[in-house]
Amino acid sequence: MSKTLQIQVDPFLCASQERTISGALHYPDLMIIQHDIDPSSGPIEANLTFSKQGKFVVLTGRISANLVLQCAACLESIDFIVDINVKLAVFDDESMLSVLPDDYEPCVFEGDRLMINEVVESEVLLVLPDIPRHEVCPSALPTSSTDKDFTLEPEQKKNPFEALESLKKH
Ligand SMILES: [Zn+2]
Repeated sequence: MSKTLQIQVDPFLCASQERTISGALHYPDLMIIQHDIDPSSGPIEANLTFSKQGKFVVLTGRISANLVLQCAACLESIDFIVDINVKLAVFDDESMLSVLPDDYEPCVFEGDRLMINEVVESEVLLVLPDIPRHEVCPSALPTSSTDKDFTLEPEQKKNPFEALESLKKH
């Protein structure tokens, strides 16, 4: 059993201890991205280590998951693999934004605690497509519209041979 990531930590204390947090978030645990992914998605696994980089607390490691999204065009599922190389500078003072170490993304928190699950979900949210779509949908679609509210009745499609038939009759 993997540990949950639903924990609050003191980033400064964790950094001084060089603490590593590893665990998983399952679909029912999700608070931010639950509506963006399918319930059949696999758990989001993370292995993150706090340390210090100059005066910054940094959080580095990996977040990975095999998620399932719904295609906006055909409504079938899309396998979406998440593999994020995490390099976050963690701070509670926005004035530090201007002196962020190179290659690190900012992770600002309020109060004195950092919610690990929020950090993990926010990172995954950044890589999710705004509108999930297959590159090529598995089933053929009407080319006239990709809007899911648009339905084309197959009976309304004109059969070109029918048109030819009616021409011949004249
Ligand atoms: Zn599709």
